[in-house]
Amino acid sequence: MNSEMIIQIIKEVQKAYEANASEIEKLDQAIGDGDHVINMRRGMKAILEIEEELGSLKPGETLNKIAMTLLSSIGGAAGPLFASMFMGMAKVPGSDHMDDSKTVAKMFSSGVELVKQRGKADVGDKTMMDVLIPVSTLFSDLVERSDLSKDEMLRQLMAEAERGMLSTKDIAATKGRASYLGERAKGHIDPGAKSCQLIIFTICDYLMNQEKIR
Ligand code: ADP
Ligand code: MG
Repeated sequence: MNSEMIIQIIKEVQKAYEANASEIEKLDQAIGDGDHVINMRRGMKAILEIEEELGSLKPGETLNKIAMTLLSSIGGAAGPLFASMFMGMAKVPGSDHMDDSKTVAKMFSSGVELVKQRGKADVGDKTMMDVLIPVSTLFSDLVERSDLSKDEMLRQLMAEAERGMLSTKDIAATKGRASYLGERAKGHIDPGAKSCQLIIFTICDYLMNQEKIR
């Protein structure tokens, strides 16, 4: 994978995000302060504004630069959390190549670990971690298996992201803004979890159509 592919993926995510924006906005209006879509849009726009510069960097540098851009462009909880994801991914040796699925899985779990340290949320708190943690655990397991095709692995990751996202619906939130609502947050999917499911879904869909990633 190279920096151009990273940019291409962000463009795909932006498209998918626009198609789902009103649904996600409603979720943050229900259990947050309604700004989640604005935050996510602002972040993606800021990244794509420096597309040319990013394209000339090595992937690891691109990921770090994206992290810095998100820190300075997205407010709220999501900015530092998504920035941590990119920073954590860039920390892994080999992130400049990202040419095999084991490296990508290591990068993903390093990113998720840093988000976890930053936000101090775990599975069951009704946040994006309910998607990120199980997907990262499954990804690390699946790359050790030799009997799975790339597409089968991606399909399983998509299913796990969906499961994680849906698991946030009927629980109360114990982290983030939605935790102020107590039991009243029940019945609504967490907006950050929905965003992460959509992002993972879009990346997997993109990779299914690529030959280069094993
Ligand atoms: P804010 O909550 O500051 O308005 P956003 O609306 O952009 O920021 O993001 C809200 C999302 O952030 C939530 O739906 C949740 O998934 C995620 N979130 C909030 N707090 C945490 C946390 N401590 N750890 C992980 N994710 C969190
Ligand atoms: Mg919000």
